[in-house]
Amino acid sequence: MISLETSLSEIKGIGPKFLARLKKLRIETVKDLLWHFPFRYDDFSEISKIVDLTVGQQATIQGVIQAIKPRKSWKRRMFIIEALVGDDTGSVKSIWFNQRFLLSILKKGRLVSLAGKVVQTKDGGICLSHPTYELINNRIMEAETNENLKHTGRLVPIYPETRGLTSKGLRYLIKPILDDLEPVDESLPYEILKKYGIMEINEALRKIHFPEEIKESRLAKQRFAFEDLFYLQVLNLREKLRLARQKSHSLKIDLDFIKESLAKIPFELTVSQKKSLWEILKDLGKSHPMNRLLQGDVGSGKTIVAILAALMVARQGKQSAFMAPTEILANQHYSTFKNFFADFSGGVGLITSSGGKVFYGDGLESEIKKPEMAKKIQAGEIKIIFGTHALISASGRSPAGRQKNIKFKDLAYVVIDEQHRFGVRQRAELVDRAHSSKLIPHFLSMSATPIPRTLTLTIFGDLDLSIIDELPKGRKEIITKIVAPENRDKAYAFIRGQVRKGRQVFVICPRIEPSEEDDSIADFSQWQKWEAKTVKEEYEKLSGKIFPDLRVAMLHGKMKAKEKEEIMKDFKRGKIDVLVSTSVIEVGVDIPNAAIMMIESAERFGLAQLYQFRGRVGRGEHQSFCFLFTEFKSQNIFKRLRSLIDAKNGFELAEKDLEIRGPGEFLGQSQTGIPDLAMRSLQNPEIVKEAREAAEMIMQKDPDLKEYPQLKEKLESFQKEIHLE
Ligand code: ADP
Ligand code: MG
Repeated sequence: MISLETSLSEIKGIGPKFLARLKKLRIETVKDLLWHFPFRYDDFSEISKIVDLTVGQQATIQGVIQAIKPRKSWKRRMFIIEALVGDDTGSVKSIWFNQRFLLSILKKGRLVSLAGKVVQTKDGGICLSHPTYELINNRIMEAETNENLKHTGRLVPIYPETRGLTSKGLRYLIKPILDDLEPVDESLPYEILKKYGIMEINEALRKIHFPEEIKESRLAKQRFAFEDLFYLQVLNLREKLRLARQKSHSLKIDLDFIKESLAKIPFELTVSQKKSLWEILKDLGKSHPMNRLLQGDVGSGKTIVAILAALMVARQGKQSAFMAPTEILANQHYSTFKNFFADFSGGVGLITSSGGKVFYGDGLESEIKKPEMAKKIQAGEIKIIFGTHALISASGRSPAGRQKNIKFKDLAYVVIDEQHRFGVRQRAELVDRAHSSKLIPHFLSMSATPIPRTLTLTIFGDLDLSIIDELPKGRKEIITKIVAPENRDKAYAFIRGQVRKGRQVFVICPRIEPSEEDDSIADFSQWQKWEAKTVKEEYEKLSGKIFPDLRVAMLHGKMKAKEKEEIMKDFKRGKIDVLVSTSVIEVGVDIPNAAIMMIESAERFGLAQLYQFRGRVGRGEHQSFCFLFTEFKSQNIFKRLRSLIDAKNGFELAEKDLEIRGPGEFLGQSQTGIPDLAMRSLQNPEIVKEAREAAEMIMQKDPDLKEYPQLKEKLESFQKEIHLE
């Protein structure tokens, strides 16, 4: 008997070459293989009589090979095999290309099942073009054969393939394994299966690969999607419950103090900002940790909201840590704070790889070394500390290689900027760092990536949500234009004019340099990719030919972090006019003077991504522009790009993006680790709803899953798979 854990290398008949190809698809065990699901099915279930075949039909026939011979097509250098196959109603020709080995398999007199498309031949007859074939044991009568067929005479599964690994090969492998598989444990609770009419695991495994009817395959797919969504929801609920049982600092909501602080900033908060701030303050007042996501478009003013809460925390003698993905952003947040709250005397620190700064509201800022900073933080002399994620999550090492962790005296509030998920593990580490109190700090994540609501509820379901859905008053709309190739020169002339007026320009390209990999072009999308503009080429062109008189620089992911920071700093200081870059430039960097965002090969980017690029301009008082360049004259591409012009806000666009590209592309599996099928079913609100309902039901009944050992075990492995940690 074969079990799910059996390694494929232990199964007879799989050669090393095949194993290697499977490994490329990350298929190494029986489980991996069986969870490699077909993405569609060809319906060859009806066996046609040869006399009934019509042109254009996808058909299965069964008959005897009456003749078979090779033919060489000189013009196209192709090796062609022609066979004549007959049943009791007539005979038909079949043709295969470049499959020389067939001559040793398909011999005259053999009974075969063939499935393929019926096409018209030049001489007016018909033939089966490149059909899938299957030998039938001559002694078995027709009626008995069907259930043993894998490739023809049934609904035939089609798999995502890799080079040298065909659907046929996969079917060949999967069928006998399924026949010999020992029963798989059901990890979904029985009452859930029953209540929602979910297919049982063993049946589902068989039906997803070899369904008798399309309806069965649908139910099987639904099962797997439901299963994953259900696990996600249970994990989310469990995390919520865990936090609800933990203790945190309960901070007094001091509205008078907030009012005083608001008076120090030169603008009025928008209604959404106020609402979000209130939600955060309320959470800080609770005795269990906050776990909140603050979402809002680029420039919607998330930072000040988070800072106001930090001020209130400091007022009560507790510490806040403010983490940004890059040094530039950490610097920016720190400066923002200093500018608005110059009289804050509780101690503010900035800590980056290059060193640290402290500020005590005395108008003096002093540079201090890291160890000294660490001491001050540990002593509680610094109440608000700005830094990079590295400050806490992947803390640096001392020269001796030992981890040097910063310890806090009384860390009560942690803000994480532009990182979707702050892992459970990192959180635990932080608690460790907040050692003296043993209380869990409150958490606030901030993100400008607009994520549609269905996705947020599922994937970030353990987080409470605050949304800033308006921009501060008085922001000028960014003028967005799609630029056709023939207008490129005009666009350059316009850009030059803007630079003369003192503005700065971003140029974004999808790739770094020409043909980084062996790009063998097999379809349109690969061709598009191959054609996409590169940073290095555009940089050469712009600095050499187009704008030789301007200061042009480039920035991309292969450069060292230090180098990138330097360039970004220079750009911020106005020492660079035109910055050619990949998508690496940070979200959230405030460069009021950058007024032009030019995006090359715009069709290569998702709408949400384009939206974020555009958000990097339009922060200052100048009218800003976004130019979308595309070399493709495709209506679809225009339509998609145009929705960037029409959309009112990021959320609307995200919904659209999700619709067009599907959740997998939208978030990227690597980013979430959510299985593909579950991802796609996120577009089916019914399944999402049922999965959530089911998870709530189980967690309410038995929060520690004592009665569901299978489920509990399954959750552990699921959690590892989706690397939420
Ligand atoms: P993001 O949400 O992208 O992080 P920021 O917090 O960086 O946005 O804010 C962008 C800019 O808008 C900052 O310069 C900030 O001071 C300013 N700002 C924030 N809120 C308001 C407001 N209500 N009115 C005017 N300007 C604001
Ligand atoms: Mg920001």
